Amino acid sequence: MFILSDMLGIPQDIVSDISFSNQNGIFMIHLSLKVKPHACPSCGHFTSHIKEYKIKHIKHSLLNRQQCLIHYKARRFVCDFCGRSFFENNPFSSSGRSISNLTILNVLNELKESNATFAGVARHNFISSTKVQEIFDLYVHIPRKSLPDVVCIDEVYALKDNHSKYVCLLLDFNSHELIDMLPERKKIFSF
Ligand SMILES: [Zn+2]
Repeated sequence: MFILSDMLGIPQDIVSDISFSNQNGIFMIHLSLKVKPHACPSCGHFTSHIKEYKIKHIKHSLLNRQQCLIHYKARRFVCDFCGRSFFENNPFSSSGRSISNLTILNVLNELKESNATFAGVARHNFISSTKVQEIFDLYVHIPRKSLPDVVCIDEVYALKDNHSKYVCLLLDFNSHELIDMLPERKKIFSF
């Protein structure tokens, strides 16, 4: 029990129940948290009034070679003051997400490698390429480079691009460095 909650990266004292099993090759972590009064997101009154429990499955890239899933018995509270019901806070995933914070962190770390691909990172973390792309778009903000003295504009045939057959390249004439790659040439005059 001690080791498992350490692996999850959550404080031992908030875990009520934790166990694990192996189901069809998937490492399952069964988990519930201790009851703690929560402030109602609508009116701010504290409540410990439990409405119900719902099982959530959260993808957790804890192990390298095996898919890992948190089988989380999530508690729903109801506010006695305004009647609003809401899920308790949990330390391993943001509300409404089916992948854990650790998985997001692993994905972002792997994407730092220059030879990383969305498909490869997806495979290592047992999630879809689309999900990896979503994480990238949500968390990675690369600032646009300033324009050089002389800009070269070129088009390169890119068969796999759904948007256009050609991608538009902007290059620094002096250093030959790539400044930006745009999905098509039609919009370059808007900036
Ligand atoms: Zn309330």
